[in-house]
Amino acid sequence: DNPILTPDRQPEDPDAALRPKSLAEFVGQEAARDNLRVFIHAARSRKEAMDHVLFFGPPGLGKTTLAQIVAKELGVGFRATSGPVIAKAGDLAALLTNLEEGDVLFIDEIHRLNPVVEEVLYPAMEDRALDLIIGEGPAARSVRIDLPPFTLVGATTRQGLLTTPLRDRFGIPVRLNFYTVQELEHVVTRGARLLGLAIDADGATEIARRARGTPRVAGRLMRRVRDFADVAGSATITRQIADNALTRLEVDSLGLDAMDRRYLHMIADIYKGGPVGVETLAAGLSEPRDTIEEVIEPYLIQLGLVARTARGRCLNDRGWQHLGMTPPNAPPQ
Ligand code: ADP
Repeated sequence: DNPILTPDRQPEDPDAALRPKSLAEFVGQEAARDNLRVFIHAARSRKEAMDHVLFFGPPGLGKTTLAQIVAKELGVGFRATSGPVIAKAGDLAALLTNLEEGDVLFIDEIHRLNPVVEEVLYPAMEDRALDLIIGEGPAARSVRIDLPPFTLVGATTRQGLLTTPLRDRFGIPVRLNFYTVQELEHVVTRGARLLGLAIDADGATEIARRARGTPRVAGRLMRRVRDFADVAGSATITRQIADNALTRLEVDSLGLDAMDRRYLHMIADIYKGGPVGVETLAAGLSEPRDTIEEVIEPYLIQLGLVARTARGRCLNDRGWQHLGMTPPNAPPQ
């Protein structure tokens, strides 16, 4: 398939180079930034560790970036890991006991923590303590180790993927939303400046419109378009260069890729517009259900092409229009 629009991190992404380093430099997500600014200020003035933060929202919207910014603006150390990487309770214990006072510990994909590890996290978050079992059999006893005050920053694609006890322990839940075209224009212009690319306003708009509401995708499209501009011998990325390049890459006018179109066509062609269950779609498309629900659908729903209903997925009028098709039960024109 076409990996260019995958909002998931790819090894060649220039994430580090494009990361904003402060809340002021971070584009968009105004509500989230305003709240974080208050909590950071309060923690700093009380000289306390900030309460635990949970970022949730589709991949590539800036969860990792914000976690780093929070640490930076708190003036504390930053440690990063991810749910699937922490295999054993001991791994988490080692991470926690090595924290310095006030540090931020960032756990990406926190919904994928092993349940045994998650149990260790509860007292760590709540009482800043670690309960360890020492020894085995009848001689085993539990000891409690105090941890330095710290801030856990978790990231997940959907808040609902977390267990309730884990979710309840985050004092500051922060939802990240898809970016507007205007915000993405800023992201593109800023990125072009950092990468030393010349791009005109229309070129930036064209990339922004087709970036799936996602800064990571915008950064990637920008670099691909640059390749086309180089080959075409054009010093500046214009709308025409961007449009040509993105069309060749099979990114359509709304920023949908081949996978999105297969998804829409399956509902339209085979299920007459739905409703159709997500499992059925997953089987038909040979994609894991998670990918469909977390990567493909959120943006299609945001665009109003598809709706999630209790009985399954349905194509909206806009979805039919985008495919250039008429719904089967539409009144004759
Ligand atoms: P996530 O952790 O949500 O998957 P990241 O924080 O890794 O996303 O961000 C992905 C990429 O998008 C990075 O290159 C980052 O610099 C860029 N990015 C994310 N949010 C913004 C933003 N608000 N402004 C500018 N660039 C951003």
